Amino acid sequence: MQNGLWQAVLGEIELSVSRGNFITWFKNTTLLKQDDNALVVGVPNVFIKQQLERKYNQLICETLEKNGVKTPVVEYKIHALAGKQKPSNEEAQSLLKTQPIPTASNRPTDLKSATTSKLAHSYRQGLNERYTFENFIVGSGNELAHAACQAIAQNPGSRYNPLFLYGGVGIGKTHLIQAVGNTVLVQKPEARVVYVSTEQFVQEFVDALRFKKNTDFADYYRGADVLIVDDVQFLAGKEKIQEEFFHTFNALHQANKQIIISSDKPPKEIPTLEERLRSRFVWGMSIDMQNPDFETRCAIVQAKAHNHGVEIDHEVAEYLANNVQTNIRELEGALNQLLAFCEMRDLTPNLTTTMNILGVNASRPKHISAKQIIERTAKYFHIDMEDIMSPKRDKDIVVPRQVAMYILRSELHLSFPKIARELGRKDHTTAIHSVEKIEKGIREDDTLRSAVAEIKERLHA
Ligand code: ADP
Ligand code: MG
Repeated sequence: MQNGLWQAVLGEIELSVSRGNFITWFKNTTLLKQDDNALVVGVPNVFIKQQLERKYNQLICETLEKNGVKTPVVEYKIHALAGKQKPSNEEAQSLLKTQPIPTASNRPTDLKSATTSKLAHSYRQGLNERYTFENFIVGSGNELAHAACQAIAQNPGSRYNPLFLYGGVGIGKTHLIQAVGNTVLVQKPEARVVYVSTEQFVQEFVDALRFKKNTDFADYYRGADVLIVDDVQFLAGKEKIQEEFFHTFNALHQANKQIIISSDKPPKEIPTLEERLRSRFVWGMSIDMQNPDFETRCAIVQAKAHNHGVEIDHEVAEYLANNVQTNIRELEGALNQLLAFCEMRDLTPNLTTTMNILGVNASRPKHISAKQIIERTAKYFHIDMEDIMSPKRDKDIVVPRQVAMYILRSELHLSFPKIARELGRKDHTTAIHSVEKIEKGIREDDTLRSAVAEIKERLHA
């Protein structure tokens, strides 16, 4: 039908937006219907629909006007036929190239580019301002950890040094230890606060050896006023790095600098952790964090909804808190799904919708296997199954692998250890980091978001 008109419009738009944007947002659209000045444009998925509505509607209308449609009104509709062709290799590659996901080796504060003289202003590494004490809900399970962290933030280096915080995944360890760093910096902007995941620490150490910058590496970490090391269980079995960490620890501790460490288990249960490190980890204070109780979970759901600008009923909060008991990360995920669902349809979240959404998620995965997800993801990015399952760390393999992990999580709700195993990995923290990276990536990066949406859609097709 009137595709001549639409082809003309697309032709002009192609000239006025970047090639990447054109391919992502416009290429797979079709004109479904035209009654005088009212048009219906078919789009392949909801992300493209939103983007066209929010960002490109004006451009589209103006271009239609230039092509003879007076004061056009355009409606965008998700349509099965739109965008069914495979993305070209070029598109998949451009996703990987244009929007790199930050990794240890391309962060701006990377040691490769930091000379000793530049080191000072690269402190404040790794902190995310979204983690504060203000938005942390205190209740049973986390109150002791919270109290210790607040005390440290007020007076770093004096008490509880080191602080060793341990507990299961998704219960707020990273949030609290980052809140300490953020608070210290508010009070003392010149303080050298370093937050580092153990994964990054390891990667930087390896890079430092490779690029013969080990002194920079050592100076950098030993120059911190507050050193926060997340997920330290990751040091297990890495002897050389444990030794480096041991020296860093001693230097900082002797200088009364604050050290904060988190782990998914207590020091004595981290396998192959050197005895001397194990004993130092318990020098100060160790605190066991638990998943918060029901009341606290309800309060967390309500506070998070409130931060999104939505007030939810008590019964909705209770339903979520009752049905998502694993940890706060999952609870937050369920709430975000509910809010996104309601926002797209302009609904107020109520009990029925909530029950439906949690129910739909529970029944959906039956038809899809983990293997299918990994295969489809590899195929989408034009890489081999062998590569995605391999230990290779090339960027064009790492990103698809992270996407596969993310989809295993969001579609099948697999546990992190299970996700790691499905991709032939032993350590589940890699799965956690991957899922977090993609979660963050799709909030910030339209191309990544539509790639994930596209893979999911094909899985359900
Ligand atoms: P962990 O590091 O223990 O795996 P995180 O700190 O990453 O867990 O927490 C997972 C998510 O849950 C984060 O988005 C965090 O903000 C949120 N969260 C956890 N506990 C709380 C809490 N008590 N109040 C508010 N948000 C919380
Ligand atoms: Mg964490």
